[in-house]
Amino acid sequence: MNEKYMMQHTVEREVSCRGIGLHSGAKIVMKLRPAPPNFGVRFRRMDLGHHPAVVAHAHYVVNTSLATSIGANGATVSTIEHLMAALYVSSVDNVLIELDGPEVPIFDGSAAPLLEILREAGVKEQNVRRECMVITRPVLLREGEAFVKATPADHFQVRYTIDFPHPLVGKQTLLWSFNETTFGREIARARTFGFLKDVERMQSHGLAQGGSLANAVVFDDFGILNQGGFRYIDECVRHKILDFMGDLALAGKPMIGRFEVHKAGHALHTAFIKRLVSLPGHHSFSTPAYMPASFFPFTNPPPLCGPNPAFS
Ligand SMILES: [Zn+2]
Repeated sequence: MNEKYMMQHTVEREVSCRGIGLHSGAKIVMKLRPAPPNFGVRFRRMDLGHHPAVVAHAHYVVNTSLATSIGANGATVSTIEHLMAALYVSSVDNVLIELDGPEVPIFDGSAAPLLEILREAGVKEQNVRRECMVITRPVLLREGEAFVKATPADHFQVRYTIDFPHPLVGKQTLLWSFNETTFGREIARARTFGFLKDVERMQSHGLAQGGSLANAVVFDDFGILNQGGFRYIDECVRHKILDFMGDLALAGKPMIGRFEVHKAGHALHTAFIKRLVSLPGHHSFSTPAYMPASFFPFTNPPPLCGPNPAFS
């Protein structure tokens, strides 16, 4: 196995970018800074007094109604899931993320710009070994017909199913396995999606203020409103896998196991992660030296898209 996958990583240099918050509509500057080994992923609200920090862990999830939000020390940080997914697949274990507003910018509604930002930052190996969470017994969380299930496997794999009663969506299932190229090519560009009637209702209640066709796929009753159509024919289920990856990253460690997710959302994803990390005997910890190479993602994000307007 390649030595680099066994060690923790941080970003190589500080990077700064700016974008709109999906729900607040505010212009937000985001900085990613290198952090020491075992620091984890932490967000810091630079717009609040004393710059309170929130650790990106399932224990600190406070809201999942529209996106995944974490909170502690009098601060909340929203819409963290796409960035968490990008960090996870880029093997970034330790990073400090500074924000001058209440949420991570939405950019184009996908993880592609975030992978570009991480590419700009670079990923640097540290001198402390990584520890993975290995699923050792099945874990299931069900709510009505929705469920999330984890079973033991020798690598990381997700099978996701959605079913929306819309002529362009319907039932979509995708089985996706981690490897060096598939995330950038098959998942990262899938955008957030929503239905016009829900968007209008949210905006009338002061939510989704930054939402537009520039950062979401929006459906009316019959079709898609975005001029360019889909990026993938099954873009919706691909975006759900992206969201699940971001929520799973709140376990705080790379995961080894097979995950099956059916018609879930951020609430069920994060409830499952909380249950998983607190259930004794259902997972163990292992250093990557004993893991198959097929599990490990890349230490540098793959090439994705052109110049990124997000950079300030
Ligand atoms: Zn999303």
